Amino acid sequence: MTAEIINGKEIAAKKRVEIAKQVQELKEIGVTPGLAVILVGNNHASRTYVRNKQKACEELGMHSILIEMPEDVSEQGLLAKIDELNQDPQIHGILVQLPIPKYIDEKKVIESISPAKDVDGFHPINIGRMMTGQNAFLPCTPYGIMVLLEETGISVSGKHVVVVGRSNIVGKPVGQLMLNQHATVTYCHSRTKDLMFHTRQADILIAAVGIANFIKADHIKEGAVVIDVGINRNEAGKLCGDVDFEEVSQKAGYITPVPKGVGPMTITMLMYNTVKSAAESTAR
Ligand code: NAD
Repeated sequence: MTAEIINGKEIAAKKRVEIAKQVQELKEIGVTPGLAVILVGNNHASRTYVRNKQKACEELGMHSILIEMPEDVSEQGLLAKIDELNQDPQIHGILVQLPIPKYIDEKKVIESISPAKDVDGFHPINIGRMMTGQNAFLPCTPYGIMVLLEETGISVSGKHVVVVGRSNIVGKPVGQLMLNQHATVTYCHSRTKDLMFHTRQADILIAAVGIANFIKADHIKEGAVVIDVGINRNEAGKLCGDVDFEEVSQKAGYITPVPKGVGPMTITMLMYNTVKSAAESTAR
């Protein structure tokens, strides 16, 4: 069996057309969705991510600002800037690009963002709302995975979803979103005993581990849906996921590639959340 490829780039492009239309509708009533990105220091990867987010805003006709802060900015200085953006009516989404320097309390920073502008969906209020199935900003990568499945016509209800990885930004929330959609969910992590026992039972396997080519054909059952969240470099320096695409794609039913799988959905859902925030601001 050769797996059907879930083309994240195509699905993201389709979603972005819908988002651009919503942006136009909001502009017609005098609201331009605005995203503020705060970048602390000079991390090369962070700079690339931030540039891509700004580019996406531009392409969709949205307003975006980049606030660059030095590596040695004080926690107080960063919190003061967030507070200013919380009050700014032209800004509907605030994002602090992670990682931030270790001496700044990341939790405090996330909690200082107004939940109404927390388009990353990292604020405990949004996480709590997500858990209880209320209106919330959903974290972008997990949300993007849900949209990929939906757009591919893969129903989650009643399926056994096995998530490998339990980070706060990917593993944990994606399992929760699956549960909200009536899946049976198993979480695996670095201390899981006999990982293969669990992964082989998955109808849908989500790999969010951060180890290049970690999931092999032996880890999956024939015909499984395999979602690869990983962004890694192999020994040759080439971009690759957590899933050994070459062998797993011979056994899976569906698979997301890296690149052009989950990656393009993350920024797309960030744009979606910012537009949602702008639309909700008109009702306040
Ligand atoms: P993380 O390092 O915070 O978490 C990794 C998880 O993997 C941990 O929960 C750990 O318990 C688990 N793990 C580690 N070794 C394991 C093992 N041997 N067996 C089972 N589980 C193991 O990583 P993260 O932030 O969740 O990111 C995971 C990957 O996804 C990374 O490659 C990251 O770059 C990528 N990522 C991609 C996107 C995207 O937009 N596509 C977004 C976020 C993260």
